[in-house]
Amino acid sequence: MKILVINAGSSSLKYQLFEMLDKVVIAKGLVERIGIADGKLTHRYGENGKFELDVDMKNHTVAMEHVLEALMSPEHGVIHSIDEISAVGHRVLHGGEKLTKSIIIDDYVEQVIEEYFPLGPLHNPANLMGIRACKAIMPDTPMVAVFDTAFHQTMPPKAYLYGIPRKYYENLGIRRYGFHGTSHRYIAGEIVKKPGLTQGSRVIIAHLGNGSSLSACVDGKCQDTSMGLTPLEGVLMGTRSGSLDPAVVQFISERESMTATQVVNMLNKESGLLALSQRSSDMRDVYTGAEEGDKNCQETLDVWAYGVKKYVGAYAAAMGGLDALVFTAGIGENDYRSRASVCEGLEFMGIKIDARKNEALRGVEGMISAEDSKVQVWVMPTNEELAIARDTLSLVTAEAQ
Ligand code: AMP
Repeated sequence: MKILVINAGSSSLKYQLFEMLDKVVIAKGLVERIGIADGKLTHRYGENGKFELDVDMKNHTVAMEHVLEALMSPEHGVIHSIDEISAVGHRVLHGGEKLTKSIIIDDYVEQVIEEYFPLGPLHNPANLMGIRACKAIMPDTPMVAVFDTAFHQTMPPKAYLYGIPRKYYENLGIRRYGFHGTSHRYIAGEIVKKPGLTQGSRVIIAHLGNGSSLSACVDGKCQDTSMGLTPLEGVLMGTRSGSLDPAVVQFISERESMTATQVVNMLNKESGLLALSQRSSDMRDVYTGAEEGDKNCQETLDVWAYGVKKYVGAYAAAMGGLDALVFTAGIGENDYRSRASVCEGLEFMGIKIDARKNEALRGVEGMISAEDSKVQVWVMPTNEELAIARDTLSLVTAEAQ
């Protein structure tokens, strides 16, 4: 059974075609510059196969036509007909409080995704365009929506309510939602299968990449997470500031004659590692800078690790203890120095890593805690696309029965 996973952005579209029998990706690709000049499709297949096409695409439907042509091409395709694709799973940013699980897409689901445009202005419209493009070309193929916010919907009110007048929650839906939910859910499901851990284990998941978020999970369910109404809240990220005093927005806006929107754009796109290091939003470059003696880079690394460490402490306190800490995403999976700096000094709470195991692990799964560590510390590559494909398969299979 083959499942196509789609992640549609406003001018881009990523896809992966899974063979679900052995859970492998048989083809994947990226369409860029949809709706603007110099469009491009990059399609990868088999071991090292690659096909590139320069073509202008006026909208997502045209982009999807090219994707399907590539998938079915006699030269670089992997299927003979659209009918071989059993279902399509779509990544959708915001399901709000109404769509709290993955779901088969019907008119109601489309309507709710649209209703949440104000909460996900950059993503939800693009995600819906991707869904409509696929429906136009594959009207008889079942489609499933998988939401970035859904996993976090188990948070209790004490974790998701902000201390502002209730009318803003009741009328405008302002609360903590959390993001990267598909990644957190995938890791939460995998970690409790490890020896010594149980379904009831208390787990902190540190998804540390260009965008970063942490979650506290008990019973495989989210109790709290660091991102909020939008993905701006929480720890320092590539170009996002993470949490700060909201009065900063007004202060900068008045002093620099900027609108609130301009300030928030700056906090999203020109802040974080990039702004503090004055060098790069990429963690690797910040380390290189620090090694060269650049004080701003060293300070940036200190701010980053200190911020992540504080969440680890806070979530352990919130859960009344900790059984496992998992590092995932670009930085979490690949960078032993970042993992070491987050864990440094946390021995008092039972987190003790084995430096050699930590240094040896890069991009693969493994346990990095010392034999006598009370808390298991793991590196675990995330796989959001596989999680989307699994949900899609199980929903369409259930519906067929
Ligand atoms: P992601 O958003 O999950 O793709 O993660 C991107 C981030 O991971 C960037 O900040 C990269 O610098 C970082 N990253 C990827 N590989 C490494 C590595 N080997 N060492 C340090 N950071 C890395």
